[in-house]
Amino acid sequence: MTRPDPRLLAHRELLIRQLAQLGVETATLHGDAQDIAVASTQADATMDRRAFLTASLRAIDRAIERSAAGTYGMCVDCDVAIAPKRLAAMPFTERCVRCQARYEEQRGRREFEDAR
Ligand SMILES: [Zn+2]
Repeated sequence: MTRPDPRLLAHRELLIRQLAQLGVETATLHGDAQDIAVASTQADATMDRRAFLTASLRAIDRAIERSAAGTYGMCVDCDVAIAPKRLAAMPFTERCVRCQARYEEQRGRREFEDAR
């Protein structure tokens, strides 16, 4: 067992704090119809932000698990070491640049098919 990278733990703390703040903002929404229209637009943005933060948090948790298992920094698809620069910019990334591009391409195509 290896200790998780402190950068991962710090990033996890940050995400949790940001999620907690979103919860407070949503809970305090109130006012007349116009305020509510504005607030619901803000709520949509909050939902998007929350979804993004939640997904990031899950990715961080997986990165921490991989860190404990000693496989952190390896691409989950091809097992090649992810470029250190890429890891520094995105500590929770799971794929090398090539696999990430392929993954997003496949996912994008699926979403496009779902939309029809
Ligand atoms: Zn890869």
